[in-house]
Amino acid sequence: MLKIDNLHARVAGKDILKGLSLDVKPGEVHAIMGPNGAGKSTLGNILAGREGYEVTAGSVTFDGRDLLALAPEERAAAGVFLAFQYPVEIPGVNNTYFLRAALNAQRKARGEPELDSMQFLKKVREKLAVLHLKDELLHRGVNEGFSGGEKKRNEIFQLALLEPKLAILDETDSGLDIDALKSVADGVNALRSPDRAFIVITHYQRLLDYIKPDVVHVLADGRIVQTGGPELALELEAHGYDWIRQRTGPEV
Ligand code: ADP
Ligand code: MG
Ligand code: MG
Repeated sequence: MLKIDNLHARVAGKDILKGLSLDVKPGEVHAIMGPNGAGKSTLGNILAGREGYEVTAGSVTFDGRDLLALAPEERAAAGVFLAFQYPVEIPGVNNTYFLRAALNAQRKARGEPELDSMQFLKKVREKLAVLHLKDELLHRGVNEGFSGGEKKRNEIFQLALLEPKLAILDETDSGLDIDALKSVADGVNALRSPDRAFIVITHYQRLLDYIKPDVVHVLADGRIVQTGGPELALELEAHGYDWIRQRTGPEV
């Protein structure tokens, strides 16, 4: 589904990704862990097509297409979803209105008919039920005054509505208390399916207690320096990132 080959990228004139390769198949959940500044968010931002990142070498193929050649909205239409580490607040814009606009923009880009408000509400109710959520966040401004946990729940709800093939969650666990963390993880687990893949970017292991990854990668200094199963996350938690440095050499 997603094939990243030898990706090199630069931000603000500085080389950040230095030969990153990654292969993600449908249905898989990949965790990407790594120290601060390793380039984890840079990777997510490049996949989503955010501005300011210069790819200097390598390729990214998604469903056989050159992902890097697509505009951000084309990527979303192709089924790539990125949940941001710091969600934007749009005070005064009703969340339901925003979600419907996002969904209809995606449908339009796919050449599908837009949903009218009745059809949209039906879909909203269906997804609320899947995630065991109440509709209280829908009637407020987009992320306006949302707690950390509410913002993340809202992101997972967006994800459910947009039904991406590949969802990238960047530090969805940051700043969450344990109840909010569990509720986010429950949401992700409810949305796992054989044709949907997740890339879960996290600095800490604890989210992976609740979202069991198939594959765990360690990203350090712009490259994947180690890949393993869920046990790799536990080893990292026990030994810290210094342990990886010792095992992979001083350049990390
Ligand atoms: P991580 O998510 O692993 O903590 P990032 O991808 O956010 O790491 O950042 C990797 C490196 O790139 C850091 O050294 C960071 O300071 C730098 N960086 C990221 N974005 C920018 C930017 N917009 N301008 C300048 N430097 C940046
Ligand atoms: Mg960081
Ligand atoms: Mg980051």
